[in-house]
Amino acid sequence: MNKGSDYFLRQVAIIGGGIIGATAAFYLSFLKGSESVHVTLYDDGTGQATKAASGIISPWLSKRRNKRWYALAKRGAELLPQLVMDANLGADVYQQTGTIVTRKDHADLLRLYTEAQRRAADTPAMGDIVLLTADQVGQRMPFITNPPEGVFVSGGAKIDGSAFVTQLLRNAESRNLTIVKQRVKLDRHGRVIDHTGQRQFDNMIIATGAWMKDTLAPLGVKAAIRPQKGQLIDLSLAADHSWMKLPVLMPEGSSDIIPFANGKLVIGATHEDDGQFDLTPTQSAQSELLGNAKVFINTLSRNQIVNVRVGTRAYTPDFGPFFGSLTTISDSILVGGGLGSSGLTTGPIIGYLLAKSILQRGLESFEAYTKPVSAYIH
Ligand SMILES: Cc1cc2nc3c(=O)[nH]c(=O)nc-3n(C[C@H](O)[C@H](O)[C@H](O)COP(=O)(O)OP(=O)(O)OC[C@H]3O[C@@H](n4cnc5c(N)ncnc54)[C@H](O)[C@@H]3O)c2cc1C
Repeated sequence: MNKGSDYFLRQVAIIGGGIIGATAAFYLSFLKGSESVHVTLYDDGTGQATKAASGIISPWLSKRRNKRWYALAKRGAELLPQLVMDANLGADVYQQTGTIVTRKDHADLLRLYTEAQRRAADTPAMGDIVLLTADQVGQRMPFITNPPEGVFVSGGAKIDGSAFVTQLLRNAESRNLTIVKQRVKLDRHGRVIDHTGQRQFDNMIIATGAWMKDTLAPLGVKAAIRPQKGQLIDLSLAADHSWMKLPVLMPEGSSDIIPFANGKLVIGATHEDDGQFDLTPTQSAQSELLGNAKVFINTLSRNQIVNVRVGTRAYTPDFGPFFGSLTTISDSILVGGGLGSSGLTTGPIIGYLLAKSILQRGLESFEAYTKPVSAYIH
């Protein structure tokens, strides 16, 4: 697109290229009305939670009791297969292999199984629910030496957060997206200060994760967001491509075990409230994660660790994600954040709804999924 025709397009800025920003950028290039906008996405990638995430999509059996969160996560899990098709994402990015959820106590597991069946009755995305003995779990995940019994949910999935955002952004770049790899600030009028100076945009999406408080400060508002450090380990085991089809194990009160193709095993994750924005990998986190996984796979050893990933999650005081327009400042500034530990599930639907509201000028109410933005940004 040349600069002459660009002049007549509505200019949209996205600050933050994690899962919310990348999904919004993709849908702003894909949905009806996208031909009338040009999008500039600013991101420097430092500390990004999306790239560090374990990659589990399985919200239905969470112990959380927040109804809005559940409605959002449920719709988010439903959107993902559609998004994968819309953006033509590769099989290395998203695989619906099912998840196995465990309980330490057998009676609790039976209750979970009954609850899962009840929920699946009106949630087709959950797929089939199967109660598995320890032996059956071992058959489905042959590398596990001490399998627990569990409930299998066939609709559960795993996602590679880093590849996901990379492919979404590349796709949008081929149409109406320009990416600027830069940390930017706002001025008090809501203009973006980038390498070219101050830029006024017609619409803006602010999706800066744990850094939202800093981003919004120049506007004179305070975001109730706190950072939390998360670490996970990638191990390399001798295995073939068939691992891609193995389910995820989610043991109660312990670290999750996520097998990917070619023997890559992800164990995650830590939740370190005192870690704040620190991105240093620690030996103690590696020991904790490896120790948790060894309960189920006693053959694991430290020399199989090939990578430690560290990211910063963003939490609100009530753990609820939020999104919508910053009405006290300007209806044209949209925000989305506070995704906590389930943002790979809730981020894409937030990005989609924000993009749609820009292109189709606010057709859908967000009330079923989020408290008003003013509950989190004062
Ligand atoms: C270790 C770990 C494991 C996790 N596992 C899971 C999981 O299994 N399942 C799940 O659903 N969720 C998981 N999560 C949570 C999930 O990753 C996050 O909730 C989600 O990715 C947050 O997305 P986001 O787009 O809001 O923010 P982020 O992904 O953090 O992206 C924000 C981006 O904004 C950029 N930025 C900030 N300020 C500026 C600025 N001023 N200018 C330009 N750029 C800026 C940052 O550098 C960053 O790239 C995990 C998180 C961690 C850390």
